[in-house]
Amino acid sequence: MCLVQEIKNCRLCAERFKATATAHSPRPVVWFRPGARILIAGQAPGARVHQSGRPFTDPSGERLRDWLGLDEATFYDQDRIAIVPMGFCFPGYDAKGSDIAPPALCRNTWHERVMAELGEVELILPVGLHALRYHLGHKGSLTEAVANWRAHAPRLYPLPHPSWRNTAWLRKNPWFEADLLPDLRARIQELL
Ligand code: SF4
Repeated sequence: MCLVQEIKNCRLCAERFKATATAHSPRPVVWFRPGARILIAGQAPGARVHQSGRPFTDPSGERLRDWLGLDEATFYDQDRIAIVPMGFCFPGYDAKGSDIAPPALCRNTWHERVMAELGEVELILPVGLHALRYHLGHKGSLTEAVANWRAHAPRLYPLPHPSWRNTAWLRKNPWFEADLLPDLRARIQELL
């Protein structure tokens, strides 16, 4: 069985998800093919993506496509762009209604094999702190990592999560849209 199908069949977190407020079942959203030149390393599907089975089919996805300067057809072209979150399933909500962090079990079970199958990608876009920690070994804050983007470009651009929850962060850090995004869009166009 191919790796993509193995992950789609994974039910390791069934009990964990059953115990959340949404009591849902695992539904791994797997979106990659070897040969993609760009890797978007997200956090985990939200409730809408859990329903659609396709990554970033929500307002966060709209904002992310806008940041990257990509239309939907290009964004979802698996021959060019792989989308590999730190958890393949929707983790559920905590008591405050916030998304639970992706289970480390997912990363520990699948990530090495996924990265080996993807091979050498030319551009990595870790989205949010969980992905930054994995792909950059970053220990500090998200703002520190993103502000230091020039140290990693053009191979990697650290990004905040495009969720509406980060709208205040975007207002506080105008250099992100003024400096980082134009550079990143140019890099993406070079690769596509
Ligand atoms: S989150 Fe990952 S480890 Fe857990 S059931 Fe989904 S694919 Fe399996």
